[in-house]
Amino acid sequence: HYFKWTVLYSNQPIAQIKQESPISEDLNENIDLMEKMNKSTPELTEGDIAVDSDSERNADPCTSSGCRWPKSSDGKVYVPYVIANHYSSRELQIIQRGLDSFSSMSCIRFKRRSNERDYLSIESRNGCYSYVGRRGNAQTVSLARSGCIYHKTVQHELLHALGFNHEQTRSDRDNHIRVVWENIVENMKHNFNKIATLNQGTPYDYNSVMQYHRTAFSKNGKPTMVPIPNNNVSFGQATQMSQNDINRLNTLYKCCEYLTSHDTIYCLQFNKILVC
Ligand SMILES: [Zn+2]
Repeated sequence: HYFKWTVLYSNQPIAQIKQESPISEDLNENIDLMEKMNKSTPELTEGDIAVDSDSERNADPCTSSGCRWPKSSDGKVYVPYVIANHYSSRELQIIQRGLDSFSSMSCIRFKRRSNERDYLSIESRNGCYSYVGRRGNAQTVSLARSGCIYHKTVQHELLHALGFNHEQTRSDRDNHIRVVWENIVENMKHNFNKIATLNQGTPYDYNSVMQYHRTAFSKNGKPTMVPIPNNNVSFGQATQMSQNDINRLNTLYKCCEYLTSHDTIYCLQFNKILVC
């Protein structure tokens, strides 16, 4: 039923994507990227997340099982991918390291596509972006050669593809950060809209690789987010997935064998697993 998505390679103006540069790029670069985009590229409208429609934007697609990648009978979640041939060997190395990093921490296994229907197509397009969750058929994960080839960015975009939203859109974010709307670039304010996320019992995490930095999308260099209650706490500086990022992933995909005992309780509670 997720097949309303057909668009990435069609000419129809269906896709809305969001362009940001999650963590690593500066504002000018973002604007450049926005301006460079043309009709043949899906339109980015919120951060680096691609969405099908406005109505879908505020719902975590993984509240239904449709956008989760299926679990194999061996308990692993195989996510097929292809990588475009326009990367250098050094860039490929970084991308591969990001893909492989999930194997030691979760039951996610990114694997080269053979003939699977649904897969990630990792390409250098305009900016760093991904759709949230599995969309069906080929879905682009854009890792632009300029600005996106970092370990944290690879992990960030792959977490989107696995079904995760940005930390600052969490339903409980107002308890942890205050959004300073007046400092945000006007047409980027939607990046800070809250989403009814499934938080799976994990705490808000300033060190999540999905958390923007303090001045993301600032129009004046002043903070667009400040932490509550201690304004001096640093956040959005992650260089890789945090333990919470990993726990959420393992909870969402019921990778109980990769959870600690405390997390397993959540795994049982929230996913109603009887057998792990
Ligand atoms: Zn993002």
